[in-house]
Amino acid sequence: MTHDQLLDAYAKLTVRSGLNIAPGQQLVITAPVEAVPLVRKITEHAYKAGASLVTPLFNDEQNTLARFKYASDESFDTASAWLFEGMAAAFKGNAARLAIIGEDPALLASIDPEKVSRANRARSKAYRPALEMISSFAINWNIIAYATPSWAKSAFPGLPPDEALAKLWAAIFKCTRADLPDPVGAWAAHSKALRERTDFLNARRYSALKYKGPGTDLVIGLVEDHEWKGGASMARNGIICNPNIPSEEVFTMPHRERVDGSVRATKPLSYQGTFIDGIRVRFEKGRIVEAHAEKGADVFQKMIATDEGAARLGEVALVPHSSPISASGIVFNETLFDENAASHIAVGQAYMDNMKGAAGLTPEERLAKGMNASLIHVDWMIGSGEIDIDGILADGKPEALMRKGEWVA
Ligand code: ZN
Ligand code: ZN
Repeated sequence: MTHDQLLDAYAKLTVRSGLNIAPGQQLVITAPVEAVPLVRKITEHAYKAGASLVTPLFNDEQNTLARFKYASDESFDTASAWLFEGMAAAFKGNAARLAIIGEDPALLASIDPEKVSRANRARSKAYRPALEMISSFAINWNIIAYATPSWAKSAFPGLPPDEALAKLWAAIFKCTRADLPDPVGAWAAHSKALRERTDFLNARRYSALKYKGPGTDLVIGLVEDHEWKGGASMARNGIICNPNIPSEEVFTMPHRERVDGSVRATKPLSYQGTFIDGIRVRFEKGRIVEAHAEKGADVFQKMIATDEGAARLGEVALVPHSSPISASGIVFNETLFDENAASHIAVGQAYMDNMKGAAGLTPEERLAKGMNASLIHVDWMIGSGEIDIDGILADGKPEALMRKGEWVA
């Protein structure tokens, strides 16, 4: 297949399996400017599927950099609240949401972390009404990636630009199954396999997960009414979508006050333009009480100090070490891909979907049941081929869930 054919298959996969756009539905897309060729194809497939209106919003790395270089100090406490309010209004009106990512993971590496952190905070705050619609699955949504030259350079620093870009595209098409003869059918089969896994885990009703590996000795308590999710999900508007493409994870809700022990990250984390590497943290009663990072420590400390929930867990996810993303051997420097290479945890906001009945509770009731709340949600990888995970049953008995990073059953 030519690149253009693959891009078309990828666009169709996004509209049909990722979003599952319903006739009459609007679609809001955010994308890097480089992604115009893909956005055009997605727009075409969305209208063919019956979308009533497709609204693309583009962002540009050079514009972002110009702000940090030349804007006055008060700029960094400012965000486009009007835009995010508009997006939230669109979602309230049942618009679907597509985010295309692919910006340089190290774009802001040389910028003052204080400015970056203030700008992120202002943005997170302004984005919250829209993010809540997404994290509560009010509407169908999907995240995919576009291989930009700057991202390709970051993933393959030793290669000439053309080769790096071609290699990143090949990896994207492979990991998303867009290069198979029937990508939509392949996703349906993959989703079914993930569903069997979540059905099994939901039936076990574990009270906690126990992790053992190099630098890791950690117990993560799960909320009582936790629900394992993975692959396709039904949004509250009744549409079944695949929120992440690729996705190899099954995930659920940790208890915000029942996490204890030490854990070492197994891959670097790219957080809004900065690399954080060599993360080691210790939890006590759910809270990070000690945090180290070999690189980007400053940004990491600021990240977990964003608010009360930023130093507590909002997600725990299991991914076998043999996943296609892990098998590719590539460190993408992009969470959408890297999180599917390894078991991970996320600090910050929990997904409503991961607790039965959460949508009907008040924020105080959710908190009391152990559901975490925060302006941020940041995943980091703690899995590897060296990690063992046990599920702890209600009576305290452990049973082997993963050994050396692979499912036992
Ligand atoms: Zn995850
Ligand atoms: Zn996550």
